[in-house]
Amino acid sequence: MRKPIIAANWKMNKGPRETEDFLNTFAGQPGKLDGLTGQADVVIAPPFVSLPAAVASLNSASAVAIAAQNMSDQDSGAYTGEVSAMMLKELYVRYVILGHSERRTLYGETDAVINAKIKKACESNLKPIFCIGETLEEREGGKLETVLRTQITGGLEGIDEKDMKEVVIAYEPVWAIGTGVVATTEQAQDAHAFVRSVVADLYSQEVADKVRIQYGGSMKAANAAELLAQPDIDGGLVGGASLEPGSFLDLIKAAV
Ligand code: 13P
Repeated sequence: MRKPIIAANWKMNKGPRETEDFLNTFAGQPGKLDGLTGQADVVIAPPFVSLPAAVASLNSASAVAIAAQNMSDQDSGAYTGEVSAMMLKELYVRYVILGHSERRTLYGETDAVINAKIKKACESNLKPIFCIGETLEEREGGKLETVLRTQITGGLEGIDEKDMKEVVIAYEPVWAIGTGVVATTEQAQDAHAFVRSVVADLYSQEVADKVRIQYGGSMKAANAAELLAQPDIDGGLVGGASLEPGSFLDLIKAAV
């Protein structure tokens, strides 16, 4: 049985002050998250500069984990603007989102770059949330499976079975991100089942049965229950609906 994982990807929203305010409301009041974090892993990914505020707002025993939205594949040195795995570890960050479609399309991240980052994350005991997904053009052109297989194979090259235990995959159809157009339950389930079958081809059925695959793209409280009820959908990577504590809490409640 796979434990659901619901992650908030705040993208370029919320500085340190807003992060603290959010977490005080979201996790600060006893009872709010009670019972939920036992049923689902809850992760929040603020921008880099808000990570210290996020970690400070949660006590070390908090069931809410903090993620970064990106990371360098290098350890240190002349990489202006980059942040290393060890810097994130120092802040008690536990997950890192890698290969988000916005990183791929706006910042030119290739499967090879994403693969190097996943390797570095695994080496550093950070859990990668590895994002994949097709554009509308690719889907309509009948390329869905080829695109997903290429992204998965490229991203996971050289990642062994042991490291794979720490990897979470997020299937995010690009056309559903921030558009309000959610994939139909059937489209999402079919894609997730396909992703799992590729993991089975690359590793084994046992590994595929264990890997958690999140859905991302216009997920909200109103559609989370139906999506999460699908056999191969194990959670959500949530943008817009995670920006307000009440709507994110409602989504988690609907999902578990
Ligand atoms: P939205 O939930 O805003 O569509 O964003 C999804 C996403 O990109 C999460 O990583």
